[in-house]
Amino acid sequence: MTTASRAQAATTSVTEPDRFPAGRPLLIRGATVITMDRAHGILPDTDVLVVRERIKAVGRRLSAPHGAAVIDAKGALLMPGFVDTHRHMWQSVLRGMGADWTLTNYLDAMGKLLPHFRPEDIYAGNYLGMVDAVADGVTTVLDWSHGSVTPAHADAAVDALMAVPGRARWAYGRFPLDASWVTSGEVDRIREARFSSDDQLVTMQLALHPPSDAAGDAAWRYAVERDLPVSSHVGVFGSASDSEVTRLVENGFLSPRTTLVHATEMSDDSYRRIADSGAFVSLSAESDLNMGQGYPPAGAVRRFGIPISLSVDSLLGWSGGMFSNMRAILSAERGLVYLRAHERGEMVTTLDLRTADVVHYATLGGAEALGMADRIGSITPGKLADLVLLRQDTPSMTPVNSTFGHLVFHAGRGDVDTVVVNGRVLKHRGELIGLNLPRARRLAEAARDHVRSAIGEEAWRNLIDPPRP
Ligand SMILES: [Zn+2]
Repeated sequence: MTTASRAQAATTSVTEPDRFPAGRPLLIRGATVITMDRAHGILPDTDVLVVRERIKAVGRRLSAPHGAAVIDAKGALLMPGFVDTHRHMWQSVLRGMGADWTLTNYLDAMGKLLPHFRPEDIYAGNYLGMVDAVADGVTTVLDWSHGSVTPAHADAAVDALMAVPGRARWAYGRFPLDASWVTSGEVDRIREARFSSDDQLVTMQLALHPPSDAAGDAAWRYAVERDLPVSSHVGVFGSASDSEVTRLVENGFLSPRTTLVHATEMSDDSYRRIADSGAFVSLSAESDLNMGQGYPPAGAVRRFGIPISLSVDSLLGWSGGMFSNMRAILSAERGLVYLRAHERGEMVTTLDLRTADVVHYATLGGAEALGMADRIGSITPGKLADLVLLRQDTPSMTPVNSTFGHLVFHAGRGDVDTVVVNGRVLKHRGELIGLNLPRARRLAEAARDHVRSAIGEEAWRNLIDPPRP
């Protein structure tokens, strides 16, 4: 082996595989534990014991079981893993390509690019997307899988999610508006073949467009009859948001099993009807503000008491991180509140939307939207151990004076030291463990190269840099 290849092997190899074998108890000592459990709040200098896949105990000076792995986390922040309730994972191989796109550019690009995605390209996007999510502390992600345009593409999407030990909800969808595939037997096929148990790391639901015809109504009815959760992009600029909500409500399709993504551009009456139905919303502030789906409606949604979760939407343009998403929703809502007050010649003297609120949206709020709050979303004994430990020794993490404020505005993905999913350590000291990043990179680059050569170099470059007005 040459010096260069040895150096490359050292930087890409999986580290410490033996320190955290499956089944070994894990004790995280002395952290500032942000439980997100309403009964416990923030606990300083606290230990968390993980046995098998669950949080066994949370308390001071816990005794380590025989053979436990111990992580000294004195002064570090320990939080439940982030939950992202809407991400088009297949688009991860196009990361950054749409950084300068409007919604119009996006729809134009998808029309040109998606037809060239083979099942293995969907696999590559989902595989990279899962590795990326876990590395960032997103321990559960809803894959809004509208690249699953054939059964083979769908199987590839599921294969990739199941090949990476993060937690995922696969939301089966298709880009075209025709919903007749839902009742064709295809959903039954893949449910029976791949999702026989609700205890799997990867579970299933549907990703449907708002119904606009009889096939759409039948698809939503299919989901209701089978008690399958549904995520839907409802309320995007240019769509008939209020009539979409009316059709959903009057058919009895909205319930606590529904999450409405974006949910912008609606009347107060629609927000009231959504609140009455018990449905959730997923706010994608970084995406909305940059691509123009509509203004993130945090204020309106909060006013009507609709429960909120957050979502990345896609890696196409912006980051895959929940840190930047928490900041984006705060900046959007606070900026709007200031702007409106200043237009009236008034000062804003105190803020309603707080950093603690957005941390809730990014963790337990997401778990609630997925119907999983009894299992994940907070550091509570008995729940599944999905945990994120942030480093305390970086300049940005010194000193910590306001826990939530620090977590939202000062921490970033570079501070994510340790990630635990289902009791298994997948990242420690910033290094991925048991996640095959070299494979993710190889697959993603091959998929990107295939799609790029299929549309041609000039078209590819024109998509990345669309003409200015
Ligand atoms: Zn979306």
